[in-house]
Amino acid sequence: MNHNQGPQGPRPPKYPQPKNNGNSFMYVLIFALILTVSYYVFNPGGQPGTTTTEKEIPISEMVREYQDGAYSSVEVKNGRVYAVTKNNETLLAFRPEGESITELGLNDPENRTPVTVVSTEQAAFWMSILSNWLPVILFIALIIFMAKQLGKGANNAFSFGKSKARVYSKNGKNKTTFKDVAGMDEAKEELVEVVDFLKHPKKYTKIGAKIPRGVMLVGAPGTGKTLLARAVAGEANVPFFSISGSEFVEMFVGVGASRVRDLFQKAKHNAPCIIFIDEIDAVGRQRGFGMGGGHDEREQTLNQILTEMDGFEKDTNVIVVAATNRPDVLDAALMRPGRFDRRVIIDMPNLIEREEILKVHVRNKPMDKSVNFKKIAQKTPGFSGADLENLLNEAAILAAKHNRQKIKAEDVDNSIEKVGLGPERKSRRLSEEEKKITAYHEVGHALVGKLLPNCDPVEKVSIIPRGMALGVTWFLPEEDKHLKSVSKFKDEMCSLIGGHAAEKMFFGEVTTGASSDLKRATAIARHMVMDYGMSELGPVIYGEQGGSSFMGAELGSKPNYSEAVASKIDQAVSKIVHEAQDRTNKILTANKALLEKIAEELLKKEVLTKKEFDAFFKKNKPAARSKKA
Ligand code: ADP
Ligand code: MG
Ligand code: ZN
Repeated sequence: MNHNQGPQGPRPPKYPQPKNNGNSFMYVLIFALILTVSYYVFNPGGQPGTTTTEKEIPISEMVREYQDGAYSSVEVKNGRVYAVTKNNETLLAFRPEGESITELGLNDPENRTPVTVVSTEQAAFWMSILSNWLPVILFIALIIFMAKQLGKGANNAFSFGKSKARVYSKNGKNKTTFKDVAGMDEAKEELVEVVDFLKHPKKYTKIGAKIPRGVMLVGAPGTGKTLLARAVAGEANVPFFSISGSEFVEMFVGVGASRVRDLFQKAKHNAPCIIFIDEIDAVGRQRGFGMGGGHDEREQTLNQILTEMDGFEKDTNVIVVAATNRPDVLDAALMRPGRFDRRVIIDMPNLIEREEILKVHVRNKPMDKSVNFKKIAQKTPGFSGADLENLLNEAAILAAKHNRQKIKAEDVDNSIEKVGLGPERKSRRLSEEEKKITAYHEVGHALVGKLLPNCDPVEKVSIIPRGMALGVTWFLPEEDKHLKSVSKFKDEMCSLIGGHAAEKMFFGEVTTGASSDLKRATAIARHMVMDYGMSELGPVIYGEQGGSSFMGAELGSKPNYSEAVASKIDQAVSKIVHEAQDRTNKILTANKALLEKIAEELLKKEVLTKKEFDAFFKKNKPAARSKKA
């Protein structure tokens, strides 16, 4: 065919479709349709095979010339008669409706010119059927096809009610076991017990112990809750249905509840088994709160979970394990006995656990001998398991970048800084003036921190821009701390204010560089007053949260104190901050020369390590420490 195919060919699918063959069928259909339609558009009233190159003459003339023997051949195609002249010109004439070629005199046995009749009446009949009906047929096929697709969609809508729980098989290839989970001994123990319940229920029921219905894993993000649950699946050797809380809630109302029903039904059929609901806070939030639509749906889903858990027969060997990092927002009903009556707290890993986690994740990474896991663990307080995994991955990438065969200690160190402080931005050029201000600012932090007893040791001072900051002073605790005292808060505020104070002392004015420090210092003061009872206002907690959180922000929470108290709080906060400022200024004034010396060194080197920084304090006896610590 030599026609344009119309403006559009088949388009790539805009949305992912699970099945491809049905799809391609539709495209073939649409393509065919476009071809046919364009055919008729470009060729109105014409019939297949028409081209515009032939010269059209009246049929009577053609018959006459045929009889004169002017043609080398004649071809009859339905209503069209083509004649090829002796000099190879094609002529076209239209046969009048209903007149046969014999009647026209084109089928003269006396004539030598060969006459071929391409289409018989029957072919013409089919041709007309085809040409008249093809578009219609295609349309109908398309409609049927689309209806089918719609039907499928409708089916999908129905299957929404089915739970999407993934079932972990007993002998999957990449089975997670407790070996993959470092530390968390208490949590593991608790879950081993749960697995034992499932395997030997008689042992427990015999002496009247009730099998727990639900176990709630509570812990910060990245602490390994999901990992632990997967390990349970790997160890338990019972079917393990895993679903995420958010998967219950979809666009359609009522889906969540029916999914829950379906999930529990499946579980009961497969008992003994474990149901794992990850991120249960997506559905398990306190009922009666929430903004916008959708929370009714969540409520229904939650209610269904509660109903199902209540509905277990005494001897149903199904245990529901759930995980959340927001236990505070969970509905109280979830925690009632008979539901998630067991809570397993998963803490941030401590020093030893961090070391173990690191060892788990270096299994497939060749490490240089220089790498000391204990040291890494010491440098990574507050890192979760996921952070540590990420850290080692960064180190591996760094090592590969430098074409090393093994990961070296420096790769890990660089990654710690990158993960902890943000990536270095060497390309960000500071002017000499900015550099100088930054150096004095950072040394202000470091010096105050060093001279106050409750601040963490200074690990590094740098004026290489990192992330958003122009410079960094990195304090690193020697051990994990779980409790913070008033004096620690106060000292930390001083070292935060140190940057601001140093700028003011040496340059007479402050820059915007200190704003986030001051924000943090103020926040500490406010927490001391409002949350920890660490001020003159006494041991009263102000501002209980009463609202629900929506996209991270607390909305609708009303302060539980009066306007009068509010102004007292502000005064107390301001007083604490100003006290800290006074202390800071005293320390800096007393050590002005030392500060200048360190800052000039920092300007030269851009980075001072712990060793280099500490060296200043051996040579130069710093002025007396602030008495009030
Ligand atoms: P959560 O579900 O608590 O947010 P994950 O279970 O998804 O955290 O953990 C994320 C990753 O962190 C895990 O895949 C694992 O590689 C790593 N991880 C966390 N905790 C540990 C641990 N105790 N031992 C080994 N790896 C851990
Ligand atoms: Mg998780
Ligand atoms: Zn600062």
